Amino acid sequence: MPTLTEIPFELDAASILETVHIAPDSPDAATVRELIDKAQQVACPKALFQESFIQAKDAETVTIEGATFTSRMLRKNLDGVERVFPFVATCGHELDTVPLTPGDFLMEFWWDAIKAVLLSCAIKHLKGYLKKRHALEQTSSMSPGSGDVTVWPIEQQRELFSLLGDVKAQAGVELTDSCLMKPNKTVSGIVYPTEVDFRTCQVCRREHCPSRSAAFDAALWDLHQHGGEPTP
Ligand code: SF4
Repeated sequence: MPTLTEIPFELDAASILETVHIAPDSPDAATVRELIDKAQQVACPKALFQESFIQAKDAETVTIEGATFTSRMLRKNLDGVERVFPFVATCGHELDTVPLTPGDFLMEFWWDAIKAVLLSCAIKHLKGYLKKRHALEQTSSMSPGSGDVTVWPIEQQRELFSLLGDVKAQAGVELTDSCLMKPNKTVSGIVYPTEVDFRTCQVCRREHCPSRSAAFDAALWDLHQHGGEPTP
């Protein structure tokens, strides 16, 4: 199972301070810079993936190398697709070994912002690697549990992990009984080739989400809910 561990990253203090809304000359900024220094010393973002082939498709299911996924939107997005790339990308479990001041929620929030930067470096590196090594042009991805709960239920993390072997040993990522992942700044899913730029945010009705990357698309939502019939 290919695991990418030599992932370049940059922890830019100015950008992180802007993300967490801290003035660069404030006392809190000094603490954030200290945290960035600590992260710099231990960080090892990682990504694990597997080149896989679709065996069967049904009206609402897709079977990939023995694992069956139930999601109308996933099934629709994989129309005409034969080869997919299940993956896990993570900020790296090393970040969870750094002791923070117990009960300091602000510090935890800042630490999470640093971890999020590392995760985004891992995702970017993985997608670039897949495009180069596997001759993919445009790709999109879907993740179990991302967006509205019915789009692709989070419980299907179990099937996804079954395609990736010993994820804990290879990438330091653990799947909990409630299908969350540790470290928290970890993403799993399926990358697939497409000419359509699909984002789960298009079928997510959550309002005021600071991470939204695409507007809600009512027509696409109808397609997911009712197979294309307008909402009654
Ligand atoms: S809008 Fe927010 S919660 Fe919904 S899929 Fe996008 S990032 Fe996730």
